[in-house]
Amino acid sequence: MNFSLRCHLCKTVFPAGPLWVCDRCLGPLEVAFDYDAVRPRISRESIAAGPKSIWRYRELLPITGEPQTGLHSGFTPLVRADRLAKKLGVAELYVKDDSVNHPTCSYKDRVVSVAATRAVELGFEVFACASTGNLANSVASHAARLGLACSVFIPDDLEPAKVIGSSVYHPRLIAVRGNYDDVNRLCTQVADQYGWGFANINLRAYYAEGAKTYGFEIAEQLGWRLPRHVVCPVAGGTLLPRILKGFDEFRRLGLVEGDLPSIHAAQAEGCSPIIHALDEGLEFPEPVKPKTIAKSIAIGNSADGFQVLRAVRSTGGAGAAVSEDDIIGGIQLLAETEGIFTEPAGGVTVAATRQLIERGAIPRDESIVICITGNGFKTADVLEGKGAPAIHIGRSMAEFEQHVMDAARDGVV
Ligand SMILES: *Cc1c(COP(=O)(O)O)cnc(C)c1O
Ligand SMILES: [Zn+2]
Repeated sequence: MNFSLRCHLCKTVFPAGPLWVCDRCLGPLEVAFDYDAVRPRISRESIAAGPKSIWRYRELLPITGEPQTGLHSGFTPLVRADRLAKKLGVAELYVKDDSVNHPTCSYKDRVVSVAATRAVELGFEVFACASTGNLANSVASHAARLGLACSVFIPDDLEPAKVIGSSVYHPRLIAVRGNYDDVNRLCTQVADQYGWGFANINLRAYYAEGAKTYGFEIAEQLGWRLPRHVVCPVAGGTLLPRILKGFDEFRRLGLVEGDLPSIHAAQAEGCSPIIHALDEGLEFPEPVKPKTIAKSIAIGNSADGFQVLRAVRSTGGAGAAVSEDDIIGGIQLLAETEGIFTEPAGGVTVAATRQLIERGAIPRDESIVICITGNGFKTADVLEGKGAPAIHIGRSMAEFEQHVMDAARDGVV
């Protein structure tokens, strides 16, 4: 095995088992690879010859046997977004589009593929999670194809399509009266007492490694090169620091060269503990009570908030919090310029990118990647009455022509 677990704070090393907190200092455990063992086994060519999924980076993912699931997860498009770039007044812009991740249309299919494989390897009989929606969808889906018993816990006020997106796989679906932070607290106790494998609690160290693949793919898809800026939404804080970790590992292994990009954090004003901490110079974010339509990133107490702050600061990044109207505006802008329909979390990222460019935190002539992490079809209700209205006509050509004439008279082409 070329990986172990290591305490993020006191650096004590543990064998790679079902552990998630350090028994000396209660710090979070992380996977640590032996890069000298990995180096001879990985090259640009070996990766390029691998499967078109996250498992092309298997040498840098913490599993011991064969991948069990996620055989089509990851390797999502990196879209060159010239029309959006023009609207934002920048030279080089890309969208890393996990709204089309297989099988549940969010970035969570990456982290769950790794956590589920590890859950099987470690012998867990129940696969579970505490979720704001997308994670529950992914955990329930991957558990179904693995034939694992599954329990997912969500706040009871989620969007209907997000609830159905879990219930269709028939997990035990527990809707808790409370917000995500309440759900998470309950799940920590359940994990302890029932011994279930929670993707983002006792399997969190493995789960987090899956998020590195988002960064690996950006670098590979740019032609083995790093962008200058990345703008990433933050909820529990898994993804943002792992994109950086992915870039850093590629540099260590000689797969890419050059400076690490600035990583910028995006949140909704209604739940922006990370942005607040960046603005105020805090070492740890202060928990808040979330209130925003961006429910998938409505986490007031980020498990990895400390790592997010360090990743942003150490790379010269910045943070931006955006209003509810800006979130809708961001969804519409991405749809109208690039034909990509994202959920509110993606609207947050687009609007935050616009703000960072306008504030001068991102120079207009440097390359930018924006992280689109979820699909708009799951949250279509937020656009009720916002897009182009349907024009209702009868089935005759005459009625259509009447419509065309009315439109011309109103100056609409
Ligand atoms: C989970 C999620 C995120 C980010 O979550 P982290 O916990 O910060 O990794 C971003 N966007 C969407 C759509 C999500 O579901
Ligand atoms: Zn420790």
